[in-house]
Amino acid sequence: MIYPTEFDVIVVGGGHAGTEAALASARMGRATLLLTHNIETLGQMSCNPSIGGIGKGHLVKEVDALGGAMALATDIGGIQFRTLNGSKGPAVRATRAQADRVRYKAAIRHMLENQPNLWLFQQAVDDLLLEGDRVAGAITQAGITFRGRSLVLTAGTFLSGKIHIGLENYTGGRAGDPASSTLGARLRDYALPVGRLKTGTPPRLDGRSIDFSVLEVQPGDDPAPVFSFRGSRDMHPRQLPCWITHTNTRTHDIIRAGFDRSPMFTGKIEGVGPRYCPSIEDKINRFADRDSHQVFLEPEGLDTHEIYPNGVSTSLPFDIQLAAIRSMRGLENAHILRPGYAIEYDYFDPRALKLTLESKNIAGLFFAGQVNGTTGYEEAAAQGLLAGLNAARHATGDDGWSPRRDQAYLGVLADDLTTLGVTEPYRMFTSRAEYRLQLREDNADLRLTEQGRRLGLVGDAQWALFETKREAIERELGRLRSTWINSKLVAVHEAERVLGQPVEREYSLADLLKRPDVDYAGLSTLSAFGTPVDDPVVAEQVEIQVKYQGYIDRQQDEVARRDTMEHIRLPADLDFAAVSGLSKEVQQKLATHRPETLGQASRISGITPAAISLLLVHLKRAG
Ligand code: FAD
Repeated sequence: MIYPTEFDVIVVGGGHAGTEAALASARMGRATLLLTHNIETLGQMSCNPSIGGIGKGHLVKEVDALGGAMALATDIGGIQFRTLNGSKGPAVRATRAQADRVRYKAAIRHMLENQPNLWLFQQAVDDLLLEGDRVAGAITQAGITFRGRSLVLTAGTFLSGKIHIGLENYTGGRAGDPASSTLGARLRDYALPVGRLKTGTPPRLDGRSIDFSVLEVQPGDDPAPVFSFRGSRDMHPRQLPCWITHTNTRTHDIIRAGFDRSPMFTGKIEGVGPRYCPSIEDKINRFADRDSHQVFLEPEGLDTHEIYPNGVSTSLPFDIQLAAIRSMRGLENAHILRPGYAIEYDYFDPRALKLTLESKNIAGLFFAGQVNGTTGYEEAAAQGLLAGLNAARHATGDDGWSPRRDQAYLGVLADDLTTLGVTEPYRMFTSRAEYRLQLREDNADLRLTEQGRRLGLVGDAQWALFETKREAIERELGRLRSTWINSKLVAVHEAERVLGQPVEREYSLADLLKRPDVDYAGLSTLSAFGTPVDDPVVAEQVEIQVKYQGYIDRQQDEVARRDTMEHIRLPADLDFAAVSGLSKEVQQKLATHRPETLGQASRISGITPAAISLLLVHLKRAG
C-alpha cells in the first residue's frame, strides 16, 4: 500500500540522530515523517545515561545553538551536572550531565509530539524505494510505502546487529530490541561501502545490593551548570551524587581467567571497538601493569534503584561478570539486573558521503549517527541535525550547508568523517579541532545561532533571547573599552586590593581586565567601574572575549590565510587522471574519495602539498 501523503523528508530511526534530524527538518517547515521501530524507545540511551563531556559537550551546545533538542532535554532530565576542566582554559571546559533515562526520553518524546510539521509512525523499515539513482521513499515491514523527496537513515547499532555475551551470540539491535536484518541485507545489495564495528556496555546493578557507606561520594557542581542556552537551573529535577569504587588485582585475575571465553579474544567478534572507550577486559589486557581502574557508580534515574557502573563495559561470560563485579569494594553482594554485552553492527564508509552527509551515489539519501562509524549520543545528534537540515533543503531544491572547521565542531566532525573515514568508532575530542580557541562551548550560540536563524532552524523565542544576550555583550564590551581610569579615579588602597598595584597611568577597563590576576567580578568592585552587568553569562562572555582577544585574533589570521585554498571547490566531474604530474596512486585516491574542496583533498592521507599544487594549477588552467 502507498501511504496517501507524500512527505518532504523521511527519517528512519528514532535515536539521537533521528530525533534531531526529524525535528530540524520540521522546524524548517518541511513535512517530515519519523519512522521508527518503537515509539516507546524514541530518544532512548542505549548505554551510559549521560550527556556531554570534553568535545561532546561542545557538540551538544552547537546543536542547541541551532535550535536542537539534546541540551534542553538534558536540562529537564539531568540529575547531576558538572563542568569538566573547570580550572583550565575556556576552550577545553566542558559540561557533562548524568541523565535520568526515563525523564530524558520523555522530554524528547514531548518535543517530537508537539513539533508542527512532524508525523511519527511506528514500523520497521525493511527497504528503501529507489528511482534510478535517487531515493524516493521507504518500505516498511508491513509493506506500507511512504514516499519522500529526501530520506535520512539513522539506524544506529541495529543494521545486522549481533549481540555477544561470552561465546554466546544472537541477533539484536541492542538489548531488548530487534536487529534490522532485512534492511541491513538490502543496503548491502545497493553496493554501499559497508564494514563492521562493535561497541559494548557494562552490566547494570541493583542499588539496593550495593554498600554505599564504604564508597567515595562524587557530588555534582553547586551551583549546577545549565546545558541549554534556553535552559535554566529551575528545569533541573532533584540532583543525585555518584559514587566511586575501583577494580583490584583479584578483579583482574577473575577477568583474565575469562579471556579464553571472551568473544573479543577468541575471534568471535570481527568488528573494531572504540579505542577510547575500551571494555574492561581490553584495559586489563592492554595495560597489564595497572592493578586498579576507577569505576563510577552512576544512578540511572530518580525513580529506580538501577546503577550504571561506568568503566566496566564487558562482553565476558556472565559468570565472570558477576564474580568480577562482586570482587570490588562495596559491590560484594551486588545483584546484576542486566548483563553487559558487546554488539557488532554494519556501518557505511562515510567517505562515500558529501559534507552535507548526503550519499555521493544515491541522491537525496542522507546518513547520520552510528551508521557513519561514530559512537556517542552527541556525535549522533550533531550529525542528525546536519543531515536533517540538508535533507530539508534538498527536498526543496536548495543547496546544502555545512559549517567549516573553524566555525564548529560539527564542521570538524563532518569533514573528518567524509574526508578521512573511520578505522574504529569515531568520537569527538577537542584535540581534533585545530581552531580550539574559537570553538568553545560558551560561544557556540555566538558562532551559530544567526546562521541557524537564516536556515530556519531557530524559532522566534530562541532568537529573541539570543539577540538580547548578544546586544548586552556588545554593549558591555564597548563600555569597558571606552571607560578610562587613572590614579585620580582609583585610590591607591582600592587599586592594590583589586589590581595588586597602584594605577600608574591611564587604562581602559578592558586593558585592566586583560591582566592575568584580574577577573570581571573583582574589577567590578572598583568604585570607578560603573554598573556591572547582572547576567553572569554575559559577564563570563565579556571576560573571555577580552582576555583571549589577542590569541583569538591570531587564530583568525591563520584561518584567513588558509581560507583561500581551503574552500576552492573541485568540480564533481573532475577527471583526476587528466591532472598532469599526479602519480597513478594519488589519482586513484582522489578518484575514490572525490573530495569536494582543495582543503578536503589536502587532508586525505598520502595527498602531498605537491599534489595539491598540481591540482591548483590544473583548476586555474581549466577555469
Ligand atoms: P541509536 O541510538 O542506536 O538509534 C537507532 C534508532 O533507529 C532506534 O530508535 C531504532 O529502533 C531505529 N531503527 C533501526 N533500524 C530501524 C529500521 N529498520 N526501521 C525503523 N527504525 C529503525 N556510545 C558511547 O559514546 N560510549 C559507549 O560506551 C557506548 N556504548 C554502547 C554500547 C552499546 C551496547 C550500544 C548499543 C551503544 C553504545 N554506545 C556508546 C553508542 C550510543 O548508543 C550510540 O552512539 C547512539 O545511540 C547512536 O545514536 P543513533 O541515533 O545513531 O542510533
